[in-house]
Amino acid sequence: MNNIDSISQDSINFIKEIYGDEFIPLHRPIFIGNEKDYLTECIDSNFVSSVGKKVDEFENSISKYTNSKYAIATSSGTTALHVALKLNDVDDNDEVITQSLTFVATCNAISYLNASPVFVDVDLDTMGMSPEALRVFLEKNAKIDGKFTRNKITGRRIKACLPMHTYGFPCRIDQIKDICDEWKIKLIEDAAESLGSFYKKKHTGTYGLMGTFSFNGNKIITTGGGGMIVTDNEELAVKAKHITTTSKKPHPYKFVHDEVGFNYRLPNINAALGCAQIEKLKFFLDQKSNIYKKYKDFYHSIDVKINKPIKDSISNHWLNSIILDDIEARDKFIYITNNSGVMTRPFWTMMSKLKMFENCISDSLENSNWLEDRVVCIPSSVPLEAEK
Ligand SMILES: *Cc1c(COP(=O)(O)O)cnc(C)c1O
Repeated sequence: MNNIDSISQDSINFIKEIYGDEFIPLHRPIFIGNEKDYLTECIDSNFVSSVGKKVDEFENSISKYTNSKYAIATSSGTTALHVALKLNDVDDNDEVITQSLTFVATCNAISYLNASPVFVDVDLDTMGMSPEALRVFLEKNAKIDGKFTRNKITGRRIKACLPMHTYGFPCRIDQIKDICDEWKIKLIEDAAESLGSFYKKKHTGTYGLMGTFSFNGNKIITTGGGGMIVTDNEELAVKAKHITTTSKKPHPYKFVHDEVGFNYRLPNINAALGCAQIEKLKFFLDQKSNIYKKYKDFYHSIDVKINKPIKDSISNHWLNSIILDDIEARDKFIYITNNSGVMTRPFWTMMSKLKMFENCISDSLENSNWLEDRVVCIPSSVPLEAEK
């Protein structure tokens, strides 16, 4: 590899060629479709809040696009995760197996239910949960006890497994599903970053009992803030809609709520944005695939590794990332690029190193540690000129 100063300078020049000379963020939303029209429709109709037809329309679009029977809109990706875990019986003192290399929301949602995350390693190529690490962990630490699986060491039930498709790259979700089935562990997917990503022709988020998406401002499509749960299970879908809408029983005028519910509804005005954004999803995906190809050729030419989707997978290329030699190179690259107005960022700090989760159980996390030190995310928005 060249020295890091020239890698950084070459990157800055190349990225500015794509995105221009102004400050270049990591990922920005773009609104080039029917956003304003749909927002106007909402405002004119007075349906801006928790009921309205844009919510139904947006749910239908996501259900159709992901080929899921049901889609339930929520106020964020985090609240979608909270509800998905809760409806799959994650409860006080349970354990949920997840990855340490993820965004904090994954683990926060587990904690909201007073359950504990358990961290297994990721694969180096997908940067998502490693089926091999999951298998080894379970063989070493778990035993099936009637209907449940217990952690032999803590005595707690291992209720669910929550892998995440990092930066839009599908992880080996079919193998993870097989292991979960074998061990009677419920599979839920954090597909917040992977709308538009498929593994073996099946959309990410649809392998598990439930999958969740986020439409935060930095994601591939945005509703400002928002999320979605997808599932093929009718009973879970009905429950999800119910508890995210304050558990109100349908009635022409009475207010009867039959359990403690949540106000996790997606407002109609946010759904309106979503309806417009999803119409442009194919265009965004094409543009992102172009950007990835450009980066791939460029980094190949200067002998720097770039993360690629594995065989049989299609990535949405939400966020491109490169792998530098070591933590010093990484920090220097980040320093130089950000000083030149090119936003780059390291991986998240591993969840197992945050003070809320530092006492959680984990395996060696060898690959996670290796990646955490070396991966840098680079600007990946749809380029400005593509908007015209
Ligand atoms: C964005 C994101 C979430 C949560 O999304 P919000 O809509 O911001 O609550 C969850 N998990 C991952 C991996 C994410 O990237």
